[in-house]
Amino acid sequence: MNIHEFQGKSLLKSYNVDIQEGFVAETSEQAVAAAEKLQKESGSSFFVIKAQIHAGGRGKGGGVKLAKSVDEAGRIAGQILGMQLITPQTGPEGKKVNKVLVAEDVYYKGESEPKEFYISMLLNRNTGRYIFMYSTEGGMSIEDVAENTPHLIFTEEIDPGIGVQPFQTRNIAFNLGLSGVAFKNMQKFLTGVYKTFTGVDAQLLEINPVLKTSDSRILAVDCKLVLDDNALYRHPELAVMRDINEEDPVEVEAGNHNLNFVKLDGNVGCMVNGAGLAMATMDIIKLSGGSPANFLDVGGGANAKTVEAGFRIILKDPAVKAILINIFGGIVRCDRVANGVVEAYKSIGEIKVPVIVRLQGTNAVEAKKIIDNSGLSVFSAISFSDAASLITQVLN
Ligand code: GDP
Ligand code: MN
Repeated sequence: MNIHEFQGKSLLKSYNVDIQEGFVAETSEQAVAAAEKLQKESGSSFFVIKAQIHAGGRGKGGGVKLAKSVDEAGRIAGQILGMQLITPQTGPEGKKVNKVLVAEDVYYKGESEPKEFYISMLLNRNTGRYIFMYSTEGGMSIEDVAENTPHLIFTEEIDPGIGVQPFQTRNIAFNLGLSGVAFKNMQKFLTGVYKTFTGVDAQLLEINPVLKTSDSRILAVDCKLVLDDNALYRHPELAVMRDINEEDPVEVEAGNHNLNFVKLDGNVGCMVNGAGLAMATMDIIKLSGGSPANFLDVGGGANAKTVEAGFRIILKDPAVKAILINIFGGIVRCDRVANGVVEAYKSIGEIKVPVIVRLQGTNAVEAKKIIDNSGLSVFSAISFSDAASLITQVLN
């Protein structure tokens, strides 16, 4: 599960990681109030207004802007709120901004220049260890750093059994070229990052940039935190951070019916049980001259309800010209699925696109009879190759 920058930062703060402070706002009035509060706390009238969407590259897309007064903070927040923000990570349609973070401008001048770093933490599944990945080249896309200057990306592996050790945080601070107070602050920062990552059961924690301020503080200026869905059951306080506005509405609906659904841009909708069979089905659709409109795994317990939900979700896509249902009856009997298809078909009413049903496995012959005798305009097949030629037939 993805969460917003402001939520990630609040979690970092709760584990004693220093952050660029700020308050979230949904209107320009709230943004003004947030800026006034920050002004009182820090004494500074310089702010940064940051669009809160589940995508990076906001700076490049015009979603991160500086303000030099409380009034300007309100004005800029008003401009960013409601905009359709397009960044290299949103796709061409962009994402609507419903919230902004009004934060203190931490790039102030002082005894030294502010310096940006890149720090992330993730899992190395091959070694079963955590990794700190870090670079002196912060603030820019890490993919570009990896492409152009791979020698400037470092890693440090952590044994989860003993946790991050002081020699490791020293090593990282040293490789980042730090010394003195900043060196010490970086060690504290890294320890907090480690505690956050393990404490919230994260899958990825990326802070880009981490800033060394002109007075040697080490701050998280950005935060991308991805939580492990499989561990959310032990964190009800994190599960409520989910923002459904940021997710594809059709995928949310599919999730509510326990369907694994991924939207694709082809013309043949498919409904399959099992991810492997779903992949093979997408291949056969391609080989038959079509292209899959989605990936949909109804799971092991397909019944009339799940089949109906699957139909409704597939039919929302106007590009769908045909639907292929491909179910292998192992645990679930084919005749039950066939009855489910017939019921779903009747309850939805007229389905305007041709539907091909291929049921193989336990009671496949009975299932084909049920479909053939239902009086519905559904094509039935038992073998995969028959289903494939039916696809070719209905698309032409
Ligand atoms: P992203 O573009 O979505 O990754 O958003 P970031 O939070 O990383 O912000 C983008 C860029 O805005 C950063 O790399 C900084 O260069 C800049 N930025 C963020 N906060 C401040 C700030 O307080 N002051 C100034 N001058 N720049 C900032
Ligand atoms: Mn960033």
